[in-house]
Amino acid sequence: MHRRFRVQVAFRVAVIAALVAGAAYLVLGLRLYLPGGLLGACAIPVAVSLVRYVEKTTRDLTRFLESVRYADFTRRFTTDGRGPVFEDLRDAFEDVTAEFRRLRAEKERQVQYLQQVVQHLGVALITYQDDGEVETMNTAARRLLRTGPIRHVEALERVSDELAETLRTLDSGEQAMVRVEEEDRTLQLAVRVSRFQLQGEPHALASIQDLRNELEEKEMEAWQQLTSVLTHEIMNSVAPISSLASTASRRLRVGERNGTISADQATDAREAVNTIERRSEGLMNFVDAYRSFTDIPAPEFEVLDAEGLLSDVEGLLRAQIEEQNLAVVVSVDPSGLTLSADPDLLDQLLINLALNAVQALEEAPGTGQGRIELRAFVDRRSRPVIQVEDNGPGIPDDVQEKIFVPFFTTKEEGSGIGLSLSRQIMRLHGGRLSVRSTEGDGAVFTLRF
Ligand code: ADP
Repeated sequence: MHRRFRVQVAFRVAVIAALVAGAAYLVLGLRLYLPGGLLGACAIPVAVSLVRYVEKTTRDLTRFLESVRYADFTRRFTTDGRGPVFEDLRDAFEDVTAEFRRLRAEKERQVQYLQQVVQHLGVALITYQDDGEVETMNTAARRLLRTGPIRHVEALERVSDELAETLRTLDSGEQAMVRVEEEDRTLQLAVRVSRFQLQGEPHALASIQDLRNELEEKEMEAWQQLTSVLTHEIMNSVAPISSLASTASRRLRVGERNGTISADQATDAREAVNTIERRSEGLMNFVDAYRSFTDIPAPEFEVLDAEGLLSDVEGLLRAQIEEQNLAVVVSVDPSGLTLSADPDLLDQLLINLALNAVQALEEAPGTGQGRIELRAFVDRRSRPVIQVEDNGPGIPDDVQEKIFVPFFTTKEEGSGIGLSLSRQIMRLHGGRLSVRSTEGDGAVFTLRF
C-alpha cells in the first residue's frame, strides 16, 4: 500500500491541486456552481488521506520512541518501502537500539558483578531504604543473623530489637555495639551505617561484624602459634637434658662401683639426676600431648548416623556411668538423622564433652541423680545440632569466658586441652562449639554444623 513516501505525497498533492483547479474553472469560468462545488468537495477526502498518510509516519516514530523509552527493543522501525530517506532513518534507529541494548547488557553485567562481590564478602552487609525496606542482604549477613531473606529491617527484631532500632536510627558514619543473647550463643556486634542518596532517594548501607567470634578466632590462632613455638623450644632443650641425665646417672653407677665416688655422694647425686631425668621425661610427655592441639589433621568427611555416634559415646563411658550410677539419655530427632563429619575427630570431641560431664558430676554430685543427655536434632535452618548436657555444678560466668582457652583447667589432674581442642575440631568442620551454663544448674555444650 505504501509506495515511496515522496511519490505518495506528491500524487495526493497533485490530485488535490487538479481537483481544486477543476473546481475553480467550473465555478469561475463556466459558472457551473453545483458541479464545481461537487468537484471541489472531492478534494476533501484526498486531503484527509494526505494528512493521515503524513501522520502515520509521525505515529510510527512516536511508537518507536516509546518502545525505546520502555526499553522494549524487540520492536523494529519499518520503512514500508517509503524510500531511501526512511531507510537511513531506520538504520539510524537500529544503531540507537543496538547501542541501548549494549549499554543495558553492560549495566546488567556490572550489577551482577557487584552483587557477586557483595555476596562473597565475609562482612555482613545489608542495604535498605529509608523506610526500612531491605534491598540486599549478603550471605554473611544471613549466616551471622541466622535468617533467610528478609523484606524489612523490622524482621530483624526477631534477632534483636536493639539491632533493628540501631539500623533505623544510627547516624551515617557512626558505629554502635549491639549485644545479642541467643539460646546457644552471644554475639557482640559492631554495626556501622552509612547513609547516601541515590537519584534523590535516601538509602542506607549497614555493615555488621561479630567481634566476639572474630576475637575468638584470632585468640585461637595466637594460641596455636604460641603452642607450636613453645613445644618446639621446650622439646629442643628438654631432649638433651633428659639424655644427659641418663648418662650422668650411668656414670655415677660406674664411679660408685669403682670406688671413685663415695656411696653417700653417689646416692645424693643419683637422686638429683634421677629427679632431673624423671621431670624432663614428664615434661616431654606433657609437650607431646599439647602438640595434638596444633596438629589436628584435616577432617575427612563421611556421612554419619547421629544415633550410632551418640550410642558409641555412651558405650565407651559405660564403666564410669555405672560406677557413678548416672542416668544417660540419648535422643535423636528426627530418627535416622545423619550429619557429615570426620568420624574420628567427632568421636574424640564427643568423648571429651561426655567425660567432662561425667567428671563434673563426680566432683559435685549435687542432690538429685546425676544425669547426662546426649541429643541430636535439627535447628530452624535444618542444620544438624548435637548437645551434651549435664545437671552438674555448672560453670560460673567468669570461668565460662576461659574454658575454651588452651591449658585452662580447674581440675587437679586436668590438662585444659579438651575444650580448646574440641572447639578447634568444630572450626575445622566449619561449625561452632558453644556453652550455656548457669552456676549450680548444669551445663549444655552445643555443636552446630
Ligand atoms: P580439662 O577437662 O582437662 O580441665 P577442658 O578443656 O576439657 O580441660 O575443660 C576446661 C574446664 O572447663 C574444666 O577444667 C572445667 O572447669 C570446665 N568444664 C568443662 N566441662 C564442664 C562441665 N560439663 N561442667 C562444669 N565445668 C566444666
